[in-house]
Formats: sequence, C-alpha cells, structure tokens
Amino acid sequence: MSFTVAIDGPAAAGKGTVSKAVAAHFGFAHLDTGLLYRAVGRRVLEGAAPVAAARALRAEDLEGELRTPEVAQEASRVAVIPEVRAALVDFQRAFATRAGGAVLDGRDIGTVICPEAPAKLFVTASPEVRAERRYLELTAKGLEVTREEVLADVKERDARDSERATAPLKPAGDAVVIDTSEMSIDEAVAAAIAAIEEKRGEG
Ligand code: C5P
Repeated sequence: MSFTVAIDGPAAAGKGTVSKAVAAHFGFAHLDTGLLYRAVGRRVLEGAAPVAAARALRAEDLEGELRTPEVAQEASRVAVIPEVRAALVDFQRAFATRAGGAVLDGRDIGTVICPEAPAKLFVTASPEVRAERRYLELTAKGLEVTREEVLADVKERDARDSERATAPLKPAGDAVVIDTSEMSIDEAVAAAIAAIEEKRGEG
C-alpha cells in the first residue's frame, strides 16, 4: 500500500531533518526533491543548458557535493523554468506512490506534485532563524561564509521561490503548518509525527 507524506517549506526551515526522521519513524522511503534541482543547477554551472540537463538527469548526477551556496542559487534559478520542472514530475510522482509509503520534501509537493497526498506539512521558520541554522551547517563543513551573506542568500532564494509563476512556494490549503522558529529538532519531529498520525487515522 502507498501512503504519501508531502513536506514543503522554505530553505533551512528544518524540512530535511524532519523528513528524514518522519521517514525513519514510519519506515517510509524519503526523497529530498531539492537534490534534483541542485543536480540540474550543478550541471548548468558546468556548462549544460538547463532544460536539456533536467531531461537527461541520471542517478549519478545526484552524487557528490550539491549542498553549496552556489549550487543552491543556481538550483533556484533553474527551478523557475517550467520545462525544467515538467521534466522532473514523473520521477517524483512515481516515487510518491511506491509501495510501503514515501516522504517527499520540497517546495511544491503538496500543491503540484502530490496534491492528493493524505498528509501535507508546511515546515517554516523566520528568515533569521533559518539563516543562523544554515550558517552553522555551512561553517561546520568548513565553508567560509558570513552570517550576513547567508541571510542575504536565504532571502534571495525565498523571494525567487515564492514569486515564480510556476509552482511557487506556498502551503497547500490543507497543509498543517509547523513553525520551527522556537522548537528543538525533537519538538519539530514530534509535531510532524503527530500531524501524520492524525491523517493516517482518517484514511
Ligand atoms: O530544498 P533545497 O534548498 O535543496 O532546494 C534548492 C532549490 O531547488 C530551492 O531553492 C528551489 O528553488 C528548488 N526546489 C523547487 N522545488 C522543489 C524542491 C526544490 O523549486 N520541490
């Protein structure tokens, strides 16, 4: 039986951490859909054309370092292009309906990719809190960035992701919104699991 959990939200809100924990808790498979856009972005930084790169995306393209600010920015640029998004739809939908349950996290999972998902969460936090988390993550990896740069980067991506015409970042009408600004990781995960349990009970 399939059961889809759609988790959307802005950059560095805790989606990835919550999604992994939720998938482990329920024994579901997890797809971080941002990696697909990042992989296309990296191919473009290497000189490929965005639509061709999206159409030719292979599993190997998801390997290696994709979590750099440059790749993130290019990902959000290619994500504006409708043909790039269209090229990635089938893979995501097939993943969502796999047997045994699936968690997909991204920006448009509950609104466009899986509008029928029984459980939809929108995980968010203030830009300042998100920038601080991303700053700690990047500096822990040894990247030389300043807090100001990271906050500017987060705000720029938020604006591009929210204002684009195709599949903009926004909560689905029936999404449960979880604001993690003042929550610990454990609290955010517990809130997500409780919301999903409730939806499973309804199904
Ligand atoms: O989630 P992550 O930060 O890895 O996503 C990188 C970029 O990919 C986002 O800023 C967004 O522009 C794009 N994206 C998207 N739709 C998704 C997932 C990511 O447009 N479902």
